[in-house]
Amino acid sequence: MNAVDLIERKRDGNPLTGGEIAWLIAEYTADRIPDYQMSAMLMAIFVNGLDAAELAVWTDVMLHSGEILDFSDVGVPVIDKHSTGGVGDKVSIPLAPMVAACGIAVPMISGRGLGHTGGTLDKLETIPGFRTDFDPPEFRRLLERHGLVLAGASESIAPADRRIYALRDATGTVPSTPLIASSIMSKKLAEGIDALVLDVKVGRGAFKRQLDEARALARTMVDIGKGHGVTTVAFITDMNQPLGREVGNASEIVESIDVLKGGGPTDLIEIVHVLGAEMLVLGGVEPDASAARERLAGAIASGAALEKFLEVIAAQGGDPRVVENTSLLAAASEEHAITAPRSGVVMRCDALDLGVAAMRLGAGRVTKEDRIDPGVGLTVEVKVGAQVQAGDTLARLRWSDSARLSEALPLAMRAFEIGDGPASPPPLLHEEVR
Ligand code: URA
Repeated sequence: MNAVDLIERKRDGNPLTGGEIAWLIAEYTADRIPDYQMSAMLMAIFVNGLDAAELAVWTDVMLHSGEILDFSDVGVPVIDKHSTGGVGDKVSIPLAPMVAACGIAVPMISGRGLGHTGGTLDKLETIPGFRTDFDPPEFRRLLERHGLVLAGASESIAPADRRIYALRDATGTVPSTPLIASSIMSKKLAEGIDALVLDVKVGRGAFKRQLDEARALARTMVDIGKGHGVTTVAFITDMNQPLGREVGNASEIVESIDVLKGGGPTDLIEIVHVLGAEMLVLGGVEPDASAARERLAGAIASGAALEKFLEVIAAQGGDPRVVENTSLLAAASEEHAITAPRSGVVMRCDALDLGVAAMRLGAGRVTKEDRIDPGVGLTVEVKVGAQVQAGDTLARLRWSDSARLSEALPLAMRAFEIGDGPASPPPLLHEEVR
């Protein structure tokens, strides 16, 4: 087989056979197809898509590119959650220890930042010493001992996604339904889970801007999960403005710790509870969403969720003192405030502009090789519907490189529109897909 022939076929809108897909992914994962050819293929898929049969094979081959874990003997429900990506979306970080503290085992394989959206792994790795790369025996040991692992795809677990994910990030090929669905579902199905809760983001800061596109992505993933015997539920949630106040990496850990201590912004708390409650119900730990929400609130109030986070930080080599002393986390020393040019109502607080601004400050990558700057980012002080006076702070940018600040500033400024109102915040939860 020859990569160029396959690229040309997909470029011209023709389907690939199962054997061709298997060959392509295996050869790329083994470094025998160069990045530039896989990039061309990803762009051809971005433009022409994959049909249902191609997507089933593509996902299956990615899933089988590494080991498939089996936790059927751990004696508790094994359930995970994943998001399609958003701005300020740090939901997984407080949610995983909360749910684990309620008796569900959570073997979470997360991703790095993609495009203008942040990545759970990049955020977790701002905790000094925190490791996310485990081989299957170590992964299993951590799950068995702590009921929670916060890891990334590795050379032995979902290696094809590890490679293709990084390439998509640098080639403008992220927002493709088959590429998102196969990326997420291959690594989630490799975790050996009983059930999966998906957070499909929709809106300006998401990879799907329109509700019908988000619905189609949710349906695709739910059906892939069910086809593999994993109960999968998707919640379509809003991403027109950032979730919570912090957009960055270390600062999102600080905000997550706030949630685990019983604080944090209400929009973030709400999404954590909606998704977490579904995980408890799917696991049979609670009979319905309202009992499950109470149980989650109890895990915060008792300190059990925070204790679980401390435990997992220590188990994965991180410095657990960050929980009480967040100044151990990186923070850029320079700050620039954006202020309201007039009095009025916040009509727009645009997640895309703010996500790209954070990326330009250094919170995300432009090329595969880029290193993120853990301490830069921005704090959103007002959201849609808030009343402001001229001169009030709308957002604070934390920066470490003045050239990067100059790139980020116009984007952050145009993210906000102040008008005469009225304006109400978009609903947080749009739909469920089961
Ligand atoms: N998360 C993933 O793991 N993959 C994607 O493609 C998007 C979000």
